[in-house]
Amino acid sequence: MNRRYYQKEIETMSRADMKKLQSERLVKQVKHVWDNVPYYRGLMEAKGVTPDDIHGVDDLHKLPFLTKDDLRDQYPYGLLATDLNNCVRIQSTSGTTGRRVVAFYTQGDVDLWEDCCARAITAIGGTDEDVCQIAYGYGLFTGGPGLNGGSHKVGCLTLPMSSGNTDRQIQFMMDLGATILCCTPSYAAFIGESLREAGYKPEDNKLKAGIFGAEPWTEEMRRDIENALGIKAYDIYGLTETSGPGVAFECEEQSGMHINEDHFIAEIIDPDTGEVLPEGEKGELVFTAITKEAFPLIRYRTRDITVLSREECSCGRTLVKMKKPMGRSDDMLIVRGVNVFPSQIETVLLKEGYTPNYQIVVDRANNTDTLDIYVEMNPESFSDVVKDIESDAGKLAASMKTMLGISPKVHLVAPKTIARSEGKAVRVIDKRKLHD
Ligand code: ADP
Ligand code: ZN
Repeated sequence: MNRRYYQKEIETMSRADMKKLQSERLVKQVKHVWDNVPYYRGLMEAKGVTPDDIHGVDDLHKLPFLTKDDLRDQYPYGLLATDLNNCVRIQSTSGTTGRRVVAFYTQGDVDLWEDCCARAITAIGGTDEDVCQIAYGYGLFTGGPGLNGGSHKVGCLTLPMSSGNTDRQIQFMMDLGATILCCTPSYAAFIGESLREAGYKPEDNKLKAGIFGAEPWTEEMRRDIENALGIKAYDIYGLTETSGPGVAFECEEQSGMHINEDHFIAEIIDPDTGEVLPEGEKGELVFTAITKEAFPLIRYRTRDITVLSREECSCGRTLVKMKKPMGRSDDMLIVRGVNVFPSQIETVLLKEGYTPNYQIVVDRANNTDTLDIYVEMNPESFSDVVKDIESDAGKLAASMKTMLGISPKVHLVAPKTIARSEGKAVRVIDKRKLHD
């Protein structure tokens, strides 16, 4: 059955009704947390706030923030808001930026999370006629289990491949006619590359769309993947702390992700002052989970930097949209005093016709920061003439300087010498941290 929305009433609800729904849920949730999470109650008391002060969304700003450090300190049970007997699942972060945190789910929490993923699959045209190949990792990482549940809810024939074993991914994709692929964008690029090497053209597969997330990726990377696989590539966003993928999802417009606001209230704050910023301004994304029972984080600082927009969307959804987060506040490198995001480097590389296989190494020599970018030469234009390589590297370094404001050292290396990623790609090695 072809449907445009998974839960139409919610996805197209008027702003006024959504605010009312959020307010009712917030009031209830704050009481639930006050009664059941002594740690957060302590934070509220320290700020002089009680549940009686919270009448709706407009009072949200009165509540204290939670940070990843709070979660790490309270590991494992400190933020659990229900009896452990009511929980049916634990998931954990990938540990990209430090000690892992664990999150708990009741059956109701799993259900709502899977609904969010089902909305994402439906929004890109997924139906019960699709074959959905899930090549996100399964296990503690939320990617596989989340999309798996969503795919079941939509009624797709689900291929729970997990990540890795790329030859088998390709075999099943071709033999079983997968129509939707879900994985990290870096793994999608790798699958595309492997398909080409196995002699397949983009039109040889039956894929029509892909749902890619869990790490930052640029518009250039999107086009690269779309061309390699002959599909439309859509973004999906989430974090373990708020359940997993599906907190926000892209629709056919491909211009930002709709946030599932009936479950998550989003705010944008100034990361330095904590002050709430007006709509349209760039800042740190903060979520309040208003329906989760077991692990209901309030005003959780994601450290992801983005912008919210309530502009009308052609898909008919009224859910607020967030721009692609171009990295976390702590992904940002400060090199010789200049802010550098890995995504800026990716943009330049792909614009200049290189593959998305690169690694950034930051170090310090003679009290000065060094920035080295290792990039693979294209298999087509691969050259072993030193003069050519030097001239290409020089051109790339000049484009990088225009984008970044500082000069990196570019190293062009032979094709297939930089490790491919089957999950979240490791793009940056900051050796300065090792010296400190
Ligand atoms: P970890 O924080 O250890 O990586 P998670 O697996 O929970 O743990 O990852 C969540 C984080 O992944 C988000 O906070 C965000 O930084 C990143 N992320 C998830 N989806 C996207 C996306 N579509 N675009 C950019 N970053 C994303
Ligand atoms: Zn839309």
